[in-house]
Amino acid sequence: MYLVADINVDICAQTSCKLCTQYCPEANTILYNDQLGKEKGYKYGAAYVAVDRCKGCAQCVWVCDNMAKHHAIKMVMIDQLPKAAITDNVMYGEKSTTALLASPVVG
Ligand code: SF4
Ligand code: SF4
Repeated sequence: MYLVADINVDICAQTSCKLCTQYCPEANTILYNDQLGKEKGYKYGAAYVAVDRCKGCAQCVWVCDNMAKHHAIKMVMIDQLPKAAITDNVMYGEKSTTALLASPVVG
């Protein structure tokens, strides 16, 4: 088990700052979805993490906390993510894929 970044859509979608997407050292790991926030009634989309690519460095947490000052990202154990966070919204370009996990997630 290991830590991955998890973005709170309710906070992120109020700003649409996209700052974290410019600082993650892993390519195509923090992505942005125009619909994520709008589905919840917010004006903007939100950033999200392709958790199968996240290396757990927490750089995005520092950026969101200290540069953006929005406090929308937390590190969580991958087996404690909601299932939807792992299987939904994992997109590479136009192609969706299912994240590969070291062990199955319950719930
Ligand atoms: S830095 Fe924070 S508020 Fe800005 S896009 Fe990333 S998660 Fe959202
Ligand atoms: S923890 Fe590191 S690798 Fe994972 S999304 Fe944040 S910046 Fe990228």
